[in-house]
Amino acid sequence: MNQRRENCEIPAATGHRGEPAGLHIGVIGGGQLGQMLGLAGVAMGHRFTFLDPGYEPPAASVGRHIQAELDDSEALERLSVECDVVTLEFENVPLASAELVARRNCLMPGPQALAVAQDRLEEKQFFEGLGLGLAPWVQVDSVNDIVQGIRHLGAPAILKTRRMGYDGKGQVRLADSSHAAHEGGPGNPGEAASAWEAIDGAPAVLEKMVDFEREVSIVAARSRTGEICFYPLATNLHRAGILWETTVGTGDPLQSAAEEAARLVLEKIDYIGVLAIEFFVQDGRLLVNEMAPRVHNSGHWSLGGARTSQFENHIRAILGWPLGDPSPAGWAAMLNLVGSLPDARAVLAVPGVSWHDYGKVPRPRRKLGHLTVTAAEPGELESRLDRLKSLVAPPDA
Ligand code: AMP
Repeated sequence: MNQRRENCEIPAATGHRGEPAGLHIGVIGGGQLGQMLGLAGVAMGHRFTFLDPGYEPPAASVGRHIQAELDDSEALERLSVECDVVTLEFENVPLASAELVARRNCLMPGPQALAVAQDRLEEKQFFEGLGLGLAPWVQVDSVNDIVQGIRHLGAPAILKTRRMGYDGKGQVRLADSSHAAHEGGPGNPGEAASAWEAIDGAPAVLEKMVDFEREVSIVAARSRTGEICFYPLATNLHRAGILWETTVGTGDPLQSAAEEAARLVLEKIDYIGVLAIEFFVQDGRLLVNEMAPRVHNSGHWSLGGARTSQFENHIRAILGWPLGDPSPAGWAAMLNLVGSLPDARAVLAVPGVSWHDYGKVPRPRRKLGHLTVTAAEPGELESRLDRLKSLVAPPDA
């Protein structure tokens, strides 16, 4: 059995003695994020193996695929032993699996980042410990906690399961306008009970609904050497709980505040790789919503829209290579293709557009691909986006 290399050393990709220069990168998960990591990494001379339970997941088109569940210890062992370094493209990798891989090989990001990101309660406590602002929240382990929580926070509020929630899954909105909004009011037990039932009584958090001006995210990369770079702040528009549109430009007034928050997070957990943090903007201030320890949908615009994509920078970061320039080459936007694909020819007739199709079977609310669009100035970007939006259906509930 191989022992984990001292200090998580990665073999140098030097190509000496006639060997191929690239490294063998293992990825836990094989969805579209893995596919785009693979596309970036293959172009840099690396090879990939993806561990994914699916039959033909998107990433299988750019590397070897081990078809196994993410808690299959034999498969995890194989991935660890055969690859030079291991990363992930999915934050809900079972912690025991991440720990197994981290004992055998270099796993980046490591189990600590996953532990924080997998549990909304831990995540909130982690952010609070760093002094970051959040929407008011309470922990929920019973119907009564919901009733009391609404009384304390006010309505409307949103109940979110601590674990396994994404794209609006595991979330219930509580309007409760009739009772709970009044100070000292009783809360609405009927609504609380049905919300509790809707999440199957899972441990949860209740958050006050933020009447935000906009939602933003910052994508950052931190290399094994400690070097950090930040992408420009992305403004995100969600529909039915799913990301629909991202736009980026230059000179966002909240850029430096978001960078400061991201730097605190990255350094606190010695994070390596690309990480995204989502925020609400309220009264011109950032409130952290959540973080994703991986490349992120709100960074897809960087494929073609930035000088170095988030995917390339993730690969550079985990190998300890110098990071590439994250700055945008003008104004850029991304539109997700959810549930069905539009006509590619019509879409590509709009100037500045690139088409990305993950090769997935269409299903309602499934992310099937995305479009990126660039422009020299904001007005041009907006008119190109408007044309695209007339051709692409937004996510529906
Ligand atoms: P999440 O899974 O936490 O990212 O939530 C998905 C989406 O639901 C967010 O991007 C927001 O659009 C919305 N949302 C979640 N929590 C809140 C909140 N506390 N206030 C307002 N909107 C929210």
